[in-house]
Amino acid sequence: MAKEGHKYIFVLGGVMSGVGKGVVTSSIGLLLQQKGYPVNLVKVDPYLNVDAGTMNPTEHGEVFVLRSGLETDQDMGNYERFLGRDLTNEDYMTSGMVYQSVIARERALEYGGKCVEAIPHVRDEIMGRFEAAAAYNGSRISVIEIGGTVGDFQNALFIEAARVMKMEHPDDVLFVMVSYLPTPGTLGEMKTKPTQTAVRDLNGYGVQPDFIIARSKEAIDEKRKEKLAVSCAVKKDRVISAPDISSIYEAPLNFERDELGDQLLEALKLPEKRKASLSAWGRFAKAVADKKAPAVEIAVVGKYFDTGDFVLSDAYLSVIEAIKFSAAKLGKRANITWINSKHFEKGKSTSELAKYQGILVPGGFGESGIEGKIKAIRYAREHKIPYLGLCYGMQLMVVEYARNVLGLKDATTAEIKKNAEHLVVDVMPEQKALLEGGKYGGTMRLGVYPAYLKKGTMARAAYKKELVEERHRHRYEINPEYVKRLESAGLVFSGTSPDGVLMEIAELPKSKHPFMLGTQFHPELQARPLDPHPLFTEFLKAAAVHRRK
Ligand code: GLN
Repeated sequence: MAKEGHKYIFVLGGVMSGVGKGVVTSSIGLLLQQKGYPVNLVKVDPYLNVDAGTMNPTEHGEVFVLRSGLETDQDMGNYERFLGRDLTNEDYMTSGMVYQSVIARERALEYGGKCVEAIPHVRDEIMGRFEAAAAYNGSRISVIEIGGTVGDFQNALFIEAARVMKMEHPDDVLFVMVSYLPTPGTLGEMKTKPTQTAVRDLNGYGVQPDFIIARSKEAIDEKRKEKLAVSCAVKKDRVISAPDISSIYEAPLNFERDELGDQLLEALKLPEKRKASLSAWGRFAKAVADKKAPAVEIAVVGKYFDTGDFVLSDAYLSVIEAIKFSAAKLGKRANITWINSKHFEKGKSTSELAKYQGILVPGGFGESGIEGKIKAIRYAREHKIPYLGLCYGMQLMVVEYARNVLGLKDATTAEIKKNAEHLVVDVMPEQKALLEGGKYGGTMRLGVYPAYLKKGTMARAAYKKELVEERHRHRYEINPEYVKRLESAGLVFSGTSPDGVLMEIAELPKSKHPFMLGTQFHPELQARPLDPHPLFTEFLKAAAVHRRK
């Protein structure tokens, strides 16, 4: 164990995926933190990718980049937003990462000639990682979410590691099962059986849940709580109701009302240090869910839309949340419309964008949908609709400007056409070498880098400081060779790397456009509920006063 007496809460899912383990984990973290305990939240992703960076966002949603640059699962973003602080590499692991370490050790003869096996070697590697996360963060309680559902093939070794930790330290380890209680339309009655079966599955691993979070459409009633308590051998007051809510930010407030935090502390044999102070959080949760607040109409012109059963908003999760936080701060409600940029390539007119008060082009990769995005950006510029471009959205803003203002007709990015005459966005030499060597995983310009902001610009006014640190995830850069020409045509690079070589923010002066700004970094990754991002706030302020047609 990391420290004698360090506490671990494992969050597992039953019945089906997508029931909100991440929100439960984040909420438990927030409650315990507010009760005076330093907490760290850990995400376990059972897939074999070494990190989330090589996956299309249509697979598992957005790739969330930590301060360090590690590319992780979108749940890590929720954890950071609920805790209001940065998490570290130790707080994230995949099966791929775990196996990679074990195999590297085997190749280095570190197992002393032994046969290397899932148990004990992989299991012990997992336990070591849980302990390292606890130690590194100086936390008192680790809340660890094991991805997938109980009964999956892939997550079994992680459950096994948790089981052994419980066996060795029975007072320091808890299991929370997040389960789903369906109400079949034909019956109109909430059913507990799938949860009973899921708990039995978990019992088959030698693990008994201490708490059941009962996710359902309506709150679970006393009768069903009793039924679950008896059939699953969980104390009745540890069966916690978790009905559907309009915003995930209400979850910790509901759980506090049901005294989940106190119950967990009691089960962990930890004293209550203080009442959770959730008043600021409560005000925020109310503002963010306020349906009567005046709407600001925002169009997000993206491209990760066209895949089967995948939840579209997941690909842009942090962007949506960042918009919501700033809207709530301004007493507004952002009404987001999704627009597939590919439609503008198939003849749809960009004039439909006149309906919106703000246009946002988020990050992305590759060729598809790009010309459509450029058309949308042109429309935003020419019709003076507030525009925010994130990463690719900034690069394409510069491409659009080079083409239509500077007159470089074939201006583009090397990501689309390597041999174009005017590569205003190009790949940096060190990136080129990586790509040629087929080294894709974890090799982009990742994580936090500083940027200096120019006096007298919108960016500087928004941040109210000269030096900022923002998280990045990109391979391509504004080509330094074109900077002077773009500037002389009126584009302002208001943020640059400290050596002045890399362009971090592009904007148009207020005299030309009410708000047109793009960032090479991803500001959405550092927007927090109680500390919204200034660039999103300024974008929404401008959007709120824009009159749509
Ligand atoms: N595809 C672009 C690049 O690699 C932008 C990346 C992004 O939007 N995150 O530079």
